[in-house]
Amino acid sequence: MSNNYTGAAQLSFSDKSEQYEKTVNKNEISVIRTTYWALLNLGTHHVQERNDRKHVRISNFMALVYFAGSLLYLSFSILWDKWEWFFILSSLSLSSLLLLALNSIGKINASRVMFMVLMNFCLFLDALYVGPHAQGLNYFIISVVIPFLFFDMKHTRYIALGVVFPLLLIYAYEFVAPQFSVYNLSLDEQTILARLGVILQFLLMLIAVYQFVYYNKRAEEDLQSSNAQMVMQTSELTRSNADLEQFAYIISHDLKAPVRNISSFMSLLVSKHGNTMHPEAREFVDYSLSGSKRLERLIDDVLSYCRIGINLPKPVPVNLNEVVGTIRFELRDRLTAGNGKVNIVKELPVVNHVHSSLMYHVFQNLISNGLKFNKTGAPEVNINWTNSLNFYTFSISDNGIGISKDYSAVIFQMFKRLHNEKDYDGTGIGLAICKKIVEYYHGDVWFESEQGKGTTFYFTVRKF
Ligand code: ADP
Repeated sequence: MSNNYTGAAQLSFSDKSEQYEKTVNKNEISVIRTTYWALLNLGTHHVQERNDRKHVRISNFMALVYFAGSLLYLSFSILWDKWEWFFILSSLSLSSLLLLALNSIGKINASRVMFMVLMNFCLFLDALYVGPHAQGLNYFIISVVIPFLFFDMKHTRYIALGVVFPLLLIYAYEFVAPQFSVYNLSLDEQTILARLGVILQFLLMLIAVYQFVYYNKRAEEDLQSSNAQMVMQTSELTRSNADLEQFAYIISHDLKAPVRNISSFMSLLVSKHGNTMHPEAREFVDYSLSGSKRLERLIDDVLSYCRIGINLPKPVPVNLNEVVGTIRFELRDRLTAGNGKVNIVKELPVVNHVHSSLMYHVFQNLISNGLKFNKTGAPEVNINWTNSLNFYTFSISDNGIGISKDYSAVIFQMFKRLHNEKDYDGTGIGLAICKKIVEYYHGDVWFESEQGKGTTFYFTVRKF
């Protein structure tokens, strides 16, 4: 029994220790991985652009590779008892560590420039010291590639420095090398280094190119996923906008009939019994009537806003002189009574790809605003236009009260009014309608104004 018990205990103990070993290994691997990622990402939080972060990561990676490589050669220098060489290699290790340190404090350009200069200089001294048979100059092939891995093409100065400096050193080597023959390693040692160098340089090149391809691929994947996300968000936004407009449309449409009923019955009440009513009751009824009429106009305007772009027929060429002619005809009583004028400065063009109903709305709103917000006693609106390669630009200027520049952003918002109902009637939707229509035709609308002197509204219409 007791043996059995011991056996079971032993089994469970070995199981446990195996499990424990696995956990320790796992933890060790995760610590190594975390440290590696932390080193790789040093300084990336100081960089805004994704592409620049990629280059910083590659520079960290290359510094780690150079650090590991220099440690390998350091062990040779200790083994062969070559202390001058040891110091050169130590400088290479230090410049790798310095790059990481500078990156970590956000000096990302200084770090990479410093590394390119120091690393090349160390390689130069190294090539001189170990002797020509070790073929140390081959490392400069990677040096010339490094600036393209470290920097984006927009950093031409740094890239030029990174390429020109090693080339100059290769050139200088021819002249300086003979002076260093005294430090040369033995022929055997040089041959070992040359063979090792070929393998390492090949590996280094492979790693460098892999890094570049890997990060480019990852950046492309990130871009694709953020593009897909943007498309999704845009379609979601379009859908919720459409829902909102549909909602406004339904509400306005359903409100229209009862509000019209209220207005008509109020009017009927006033016309039939207005004279016999108590003055106070008449006053209340008048208020209700004007309120319901205003509500009716508001509903009509909201409906017009929601309808823009819906169920439009195919666009046909629109003669804008005719559109403005119709508006002028409709305003004739107001113009005569108010001593107003609407002038077409230069005959307007015939515009393709638009709808006369929508063009009517834009001109009608801007012209009637020019006449309305006017205290001169002789309101005048001038309509002009200019032609450019892709756009027509129309201007509607008045000699009215003017608008402060402070309102240039908000004035086109729905229900935004700068004056109260008592001074100037209106619903505050006219300019929002203009903007929506103009944007429907891929154009823009804005104004220039001088307070007390007048306002000019401009809008563009794309020609195709
Ligand atoms: P509404 O005319 O119904 O008030 P709009 O959207 O057409 O609404 O205009 C919004 C506001 O912009 C107006 O209430 C007015 O304060 C100002 N505005 C528009 N056009 C002019 C203009 N030509 N001159 C001065 N102010 C203007």
